[in-house]
Amino acid sequence: MTAPALLDVRDLRVAYGKIEAVKGISFSVAAGEVVTLIGTNGAGKTTTLRTLSGLLKPRSGSIVFNGEPIRRLRPDEIVARGLAHSPEGRHIFPRMTIEENLLLGAFLRRDKSGIADDVQRAYDLFPILGERRKQAAGTLSGGEQQMLAMGRALMSRPKLLMLDEPSMGLSPIMMQKIMATIRELSSEGITILLIEQNAQAALSLADHGHVMEIGTIAISGTGQDLLHDESVRKAYLGED
Ligand code: ATP
Repeated sequence: MTAPALLDVRDLRVAYGKIEAVKGISFSVAAGEVVTLIGTNGAGKTTTLRTLSGLLKPRSGSIVFNGEPIRRLRPDEIVARGLAHSPEGRHIFPRMTIEENLLLGAFLRRDKSGIADDVQRAYDLFPILGERRKQAAGTLSGGEQQMLAMGRALMSRPKLLMLDEPSMGLSPIMMQKIMATIRELSSEGITILLIEQNAQAALSLADHGHVMEIGTIAISGTGQDLLHDESVRKAYLGED
């Protein structure tokens, strides 16, 4: 018997006015998995994550998280159930300190000592954040801001962490560091849904992947199958 999915998305449709950006996609994420959505710009990946977080309302379809329909819930209610989102473009607050940004991720929690433990854990994962905890977050480099966004999403102690383009604009070394951190979080039992432009990196660490093309899922498979799929290699891995 297969384990029930932690997240199950069925026939999801999302539109901006007349433009349908997500055209009836279905996929699921089992507990403990790393699942990636890859695809070119404009394929609908960010729209999908923003809908799962409750920031956009779908036109139709179902979203079940941990056995509960969440499609009609508010973003804060969705975070409270264990689904956290580290958004594209980071969205940190540049004038607030690094520590204040992290604490924002714990806005629903009241357990002071648990929160302090998790701030420390973010500093263990990303030592640069601890070294600069009292500095304005806007002074961090792009890669460091990405770490802060991930650390902040982790402050809600999510069951499932959604990461939108964590490697965007990063140097190869920073990118390796972020990918290693994703692996580490996964090994600690956090389920991950990862959007990436860097298909090679994402598929290398993913259990399952889905290739999105103009609002639909064109190909699905294990990360390894997709890495070796000829059409994926040609279209997304830069091979002739
Ligand atoms: P990227 O990697 O470039 O972010 P993506 O796969 O995440 O691409 P989306 O950002 O979800 O794609 O965009 C899907 C489609 O929806 C695109 O055609 C985009 O132009 C359109 N779109 C996105 N946001 C809006 C908006 N606020 N209003 C109107 N159209 C939008």
